[in-house]
Amino acid sequence: MGNAVAEKYDVIIIGSGAGGGTLAHSLAPTGRRILLLERGGFLPREADNWNPTKVFVDGKYISKDTWYDADGQPFVPQVHYFVGGATKMYGAALYRLRPMDFGEIRHVDGVSPAWPVSYDEFEPWYTKAEWLYQVHGTHGEDPTEGHWSKQYPWPAVSHEPRLQEIFDGLTAAGYHPFHSPCGILLNEVEPFRSQCIRCVWCDGYPCLTAAKSDTETLAVRPIMDLPNVDLLIDAHVTRLDTDPSGRTVTDVIVVRNGVTERYSADIIVLSAGAANTAKLLLASANDKHPDGLANGSDQVGRNYMFHNSRAVVAFSRERNPTQYQKTMAINDFYGPTKDYEFPMGNIQMVGKSLAPMYRGEKPLLTKFAPEWTLDEVASHTVDYWLTTEDLPLPTNRVTLAGDGNIQLTYQVTNEPEADRLYDELKTILNHTGTPEHAVIDRNVYSSMDIPVAGVAHQSGTARFGSDPATSVLDIDCKAHELDNLYVVDTSFFPSIGAVNPALTAMANAIRVGEHLTARLG
Ligand SMILES: Cc1cc2nc3c(=O)[nH]c(=O)nc-3n(C[C@H](O)[C@H](O)[C@H](O)COP(=O)(O)OP(=O)(O)OC[C@H]3O[C@@H](n4cnc5c(N)ncnc54)[C@H](O)[C@@H]3O)c2cc1C
Repeated sequence: MGNAVAEKYDVIIIGSGAGGGTLAHSLAPTGRRILLLERGGFLPREADNWNPTKVFVDGKYISKDTWYDADGQPFVPQVHYFVGGATKMYGAALYRLRPMDFGEIRHVDGVSPAWPVSYDEFEPWYTKAEWLYQVHGTHGEDPTEGHWSKQYPWPAVSHEPRLQEIFDGLTAAGYHPFHSPCGILLNEVEPFRSQCIRCVWCDGYPCLTAAKSDTETLAVRPIMDLPNVDLLIDAHVTRLDTDPSGRTVTDVIVVRNGVTERYSADIIVLSAGAANTAKLLLASANDKHPDGLANGSDQVGRNYMFHNSRAVVAFSRERNPTQYQKTMAINDFYGPTKDYEFPMGNIQMVGKSLAPMYRGEKPLLTKFAPEWTLDEVASHTVDYWLTTEDLPLPTNRVTLAGDGNIQLTYQVTNEPEADRLYDELKTILNHTGTPEHAVIDRNVYSSMDIPVAGVAHQSGTARFGSDPATSVLDIDCKAHELDNLYVVDTSFFPSIGAVNPALTAMANAIRVGEHLTARLG
């Protein structure tokens, strides 16, 4: 990347995660001058990356921040402020939303709204994102999938023997398990193959071998040598200022190394993650935008979603020596079934659980258990992750607390659907030789004070739509009320579906990148 900090840029992108980093990658070849502002630094590659005690119990890579719950109680959110954003820690399960997710869906607790674009319109960018992020998978296995214009760039990661047994058992019982789409760089890291494919860690851990398809590795680093791209790390954006008309963002205010700086560009793109993007918009209120920038609709910060998820640990007498467990998923309950009128969601595998993770999740329960007993339990488990869609309630929202930090009000939705999905899993387990099981806390990724702290799948706080009265962004993800402000993180989601969100953010960033390329001429 160019070292000099230019005075005026064509595009400033705030946040280098799935949305912002991918957008920078998409715009870099235009030769336009791009400034990427990232609050964090580079996540260090070190032995602790794969140390479950450091990662899960000590929360070494959780960034220091203070948010408040609805009652005003402070908590530490599970956020990761690094180049690459949350993708440095993600499980790289890179799913497309299903076509039904783009339409209106009736749920037990209300209606999940339609997107302003259809799946078919969105499809070309999913393909581009799958190729950029080198996803392994097999299109055509899962009956809920929409059409695809190109097969995945790499074949699906094969199941290890215990997973293959489970896969075969489910298929024989009439279910439709499929190979889950995995963002993993098997070919690029052939020398490390034994560590990588056998790696237990992926989900919730940084990747020591840089074999995870994260945004730093595949979107930001490849453009680092281009003279038209500047990256500023430890650059905390605190406010956006507009011209007197309120139509144009003129200055991006940044605190870097304790010093306040100002940057300007023709186009400003906000991609700080759904909660922080809402925070920045609200904190940038001015005379023309008294309730927050781009917030004439009063939708900024509202409709916060993060999935109704459960981790289920199933025990069997048989050992499960699987190292890379995330190769299988089941969508048989994604929509309504003949026995239940509402959608239930997605079942997938989660990274293999380990003894220190139980200590992180259940400190009291495991306090007096010797390490070897927990190791023994972990060696017999098969670990599932259940995801039910949650609804974009206007009352689930980000607001600013008195000290300017984020206040998060969240009420879970669609619990009966999540319960029903869990019942279906219990039935499934009878076909996998693992009838014994236990549910562990909602966020398996690391220890946490309260469930609302598990913000991994945050989205929805600045949704896009064609009606400025009910949405913050237009179809191109430009703020309705401003001429040069865009948002490309998961804030733009009008609904979240029941599969992991990152690929949709990446695909959308490429889509918006093409729009901006055309706009910049
Ligand atoms: C443990 C874990 C596991 C996950 N597993 C999966 C998975 O398997 N599949 C999947 O699809 N999704 C997964 N996710 C979710 C996925 O990582 C996110 O949906 C995705 O990264 C969101 O992209 P984003 O661009 O909205 O935000 P982010 O990727 O979080 O990027 C936001 C960026 O903005 C920066 N930033 C924030 N505030 C400021 C500021 N004021 N100034 C400057 N910079 C700022 C942040 O540091 C960050 O780099 C997981 C997440 C976690 C935490």
